[in-house]
Amino acid sequence: MAAQQLPNDLHLDTLAVRTALERSQYGENSEALYLTSGYVQSSAASSAARFAMEEEGFTYSRVGNPTVSSMELRLAALEGTEAAVATSSGMSAILLLGMALLKAGDHVICSQSVFGSVIPMFSREFAKFGVETTFVSQTDVAAWKAAVRPNTKLLFAETPTNPLTEVCDIQALADIAHNAGAFLAVDNCFATPVLQRPVTMGADFIIHSGTKFLDGQGRVMAGAICCTQKQRDDIFLPVIRTAGMVLAPFNAWVLLKGMETLAIRVKAQSASTLAVAQWLEAQPQVARVFYPGLPSHAQHELAMRQQSGSGGAVLSFEVKAPDVEAARKNAFHVLDSMQVLSLCTNLGDTKTLAAHPASTSHGRLSEAQRQLAGIGQGLIRVAVGLEHIDDITADLARGLNTL
Ligand SMILES: *Cc1c(COP(=O)(O)O)cnc(C)c1O
Repeated sequence: MAAQQLPNDLHLDTLAVRTALERSQYGENSEALYLTSGYVQSSAASSAARFAMEEEGFTYSRVGNPTVSSMELRLAALEGTEAAVATSSGMSAILLLGMALLKAGDHVICSQSVFGSVIPMFSREFAKFGVETTFVSQTDVAAWKAAVRPNTKLLFAETPTNPLTEVCDIQALADIAHNAGAFLAVDNCFATPVLQRPVTMGADFIIHSGTKFLDGQGRVMAGAICCTQKQRDDIFLPVIRTAGMVLAPFNAWVLLKGMETLAIRVKAQSASTLAVAQWLEAQPQVARVFYPGLPSHAQHELAMRQQSGSGGAVLSFEVKAPDVEAARKNAFHVLDSMQVLSLCTNLGDTKTLAAHPASTSHGRLSEAQRQLAGIGQGLIRVAVGLEHIDDITADLARGLNTL
């Protein structure tokens, strides 16, 4: 099946609702959900040609599925890449990236502020196969440069990061990677292509957890790598069709529908997040707010330049407390006082979610490691949804006002 023919000058909002495979013979307007594991072949010769990748066509859903292909085309169109490979989760996209690119003896440079599970993926899982990883400061370009070795194959960054929303300079990291003959992979989960297209700043691979904003309604797990067509065919497909961390067609269909409203959701949720951040900064019980949209943020100017003038839809804040124990107690009080917001560690949902990173996403770190990462016991992360802004601030005020 071929991609639908569209004019090549369409805007992101249009691509988000229009890019897909061609319609079936029934002319469905909403993309079809193909729940099938196998595909009937018209002849033994055609079947042989398809298995040899000499003829286009579907054979088995671990190798390809029309609903999954439509989702991949739509995401690639939004990111501005030629192609994408869908995976069963965001973490399996990173697993696929490593399996496909790295071999024993290779070296990786990774931000030390990446999503919690990414650290053990490199430091423990890939290390088992002889890949060494150096973790460096998210924002210190010189540290990335100094970490380069002759065998450096991959630089891995995420921007903004979770939960402190640190922003790295994508173009600067791309230059370091390319001067070293290495690739740069950027996890674009927080900003989404609505705010930031890393490929336009030199990134080679864009990683997504589709579980977050792409679905946007907290329903399914999904992931993807965006890349060139040649990288998809030569580097990633041979691995995923063997290893099998493929996206289920139903989940791909949910993402197809989610991406149709991605731009309006991300813009609305980001606008609300800025308002919540400004409100929090004015609360006497709040010590500090971490949000790239605020002038108080350390990389505010870079973020505004790199993220279409928006801070995104996730913020964190620290409640005031005299010591570590009181900080934890106060943060728990704010979370337990909520009557509307969800106490939930996901993000990118239409429902506003609040969480305590020190005891959840970063709960497995030692107190010393947490201090180093800047994740205090008083820190609360808020992934702002689509509720009315006054209801969100009122719900946070319930706990803050009774500390
Ligand atoms: C959630 C998340 C992931 C992992 O994605 P899953 O779909 O949960 O496997 C990776 N990176 C970032 C930035 C995330 O927020």
